[in-house]
Amino acid sequence: MSECVLCDIVAGSDAAARVRDDGATLAFIPLPPATEGHVLLVPKRHARNLFDISHGDLAAVAAAAKELALWQRERLGCIGVSMFLTNEADGFQSVFHYYVHVVRRTYVWCEASPDPRRLRRGDVVVIQGPAGTGHLVMKRLVALEGDRCDEWECGDGMVPRQHGLVLSDNRARRGDSRDHGPIPLGRVVARVLRGP
Ligand SMILES: [Zn+2]
Repeated sequence: MSECVLCDIVAGSDAAARVRDDGATLAFIPLPPATEGHVLLVPKRHARNLFDISHGDLAAVAAAAKELALWQRERLGCIGVSMFLTNEADGFQSVFHYYVHVVRRTYVWCEASPDPRRLRRGDVVVIQGPAGTGHLVMKRLVALEGDRCDEWECGDGMVPRQHGLVLSDNRARRGDSRDHGPIPLGRVVARVLRGP
């Protein structure tokens, strides 16, 4: 163990998931990542921050950052990439080994407060979580009022009036109608027009 947590990761004494290593720089997945594909990029040679990194290592980091941005865009699928660099505590630096966050960005375009009568099976919708939790979840609407729902907790076997059944596209994630039954369409706060 050295006195620098990022030097420890460079030396391999930490279990960080490595993404890219070109000899001069290392990119790995921070815990927790801000988005899927978010990586932390560091020069292997210790430098406190932008004020004392060598021009050679700075150039190596810049070239690696571009390679990572291209990897995020072309392999992981995104349009935008953000990079964050902080210097000294007053500049919000939290670890004193030069690092750059390379963050894959994706946005979801939504229609807010859609008319429940215009919702269709197959729509991806944003739903207000259970009362009091304040969080939002995104699910796919798979059945609407009057549809049969034998495998679901629907009382008489039909989706009730002004309700729908929702499923997670990632079936392992659950937290959908398999667990909670039909949801009132009044809890749909947005309909997705273009996904990530
Ligand atoms: Zn270091």
